[in-house]
Amino acid sequence: MFYAYADEYEKENFEVIDVGDNASSQGWYVTYMIDNRTYAILAPYHWQRTVSFLLIGDEKALLIDTGMAFGNIKLNVEALTDKPVIVVNTHSHYDHVSNNHLFETVYGRDLDYTRKNASGHPRATWQNAIQPSAVSGNLPEGFDFENYENIGFEIDHYLEDGEIIDLGGREIEVLHTPGHTPDSMLFFDRSTGYLATGDTFYPSTLWAHRADANFTDYLESAKRMADLQPRVKYILPGHGQIVANPDFLGKLYNAFVAMRDPDTPYETGENRRRYQFDGFAALVADPPE
Ligand SMILES: [Zn+2]
Repeated sequence: MFYAYADEYEKENFEVIDVGDNASSQGWYVTYMIDNRTYAILAPYHWQRTVSFLLIGDEKALLIDTGMAFGNIKLNVEALTDKPVIVVNTHSHYDHVSNNHLFETVYGRDLDYTRKNASGHPRATWQNAIQPSAVSGNLPEGFDFENYENIGFEIDHYLEDGEIIDLGGREIEVLHTPGHTPDSMLFFDRSTGYLATGDTFYPSTLWAHRADANFTDYLESAKRMADLQPRVKYILPGHGQIVANPDFLGKLYNAFVAMRDPDTPYETGENRRRYQFDGFAALVADPPE
C-alpha cells in the first residue's frame, strides 16, 4: 500500500496543473509540473497510485508509462503538449501499459515476454486491482469494472540498451535493467538528471518475488543504478510519489547485497521473504534467486 504522506511533499514542492475536467478524466488524474517541460500524471485514487511522466523536447514528447486505463491519459497528455508523442514503458506489467493502445507510436523491448504482455493481459493478472475496494473515489465518468479489459498494443520500435531517444534538445538514454521483470528499463534524461525507474525502484515495497522476477539480474541492475547516482537529480518512480531522492539508488544496491548475506534479518511468508530497509522494503523468493 502507498500512503498519503507523498501528497504533502508534492503539494508543497510542485505546482498542480489544471488541465480541465475532461482531460483529467473527472479528476482521476492529478498533474504536477516538475519543471515547465516535465510533468507527472498521478492516479491518486487507486491504491496503486501509478505515475506516468511526460517529458517534452523541442520536437517530440516522451510519455513514460500509461497506467491502468481507468481514465483516458491521452486527453491529459494532449492538454499539456501538441508535439508528437512517443510512448515507452518501464516494463510491460498491466498497470504500466493499459493506455498504450490509444497512442500511435510505442517503443518497447524485443522480447517474447514483452510481446506476450503487449497482446493484452488476461483478467487473472489484474482482477484484484480492478474492483471497487481498490479505489477511494473520483472514478471517471463511464468507467465500469464489469466491462474493463486490457487492450493490447503494437510495438513500433525495439529499444536497445544505451540507445538515445532524441526529443530535440533533450536526449533520453535507455538502460536495460532486468530484475523486476525481464523487460524492465530505465529512462535517464541527461539534461535534467531525471531517472524514471518504474517498479525497479519506488520508496515502498519492491516486488522481486514473482515468477517473472530475477534476483541476480535485479542485483546487477541495482549496481548500474548506484553507479549513475551522482548524475541523478530526481528519481521518477512508477508508483506512490512523483519524485524520490537519488540516495535511494545506492541504498537499493546495498539492499540487494545485504539480501545475499544469510545474517540479514527478514520475515517469511508464502514461499517468500520480506526485507525491511531504510525507506523501502523488498519481497524476494525464499531463498533469493
Ligand atoms: Zn511491475
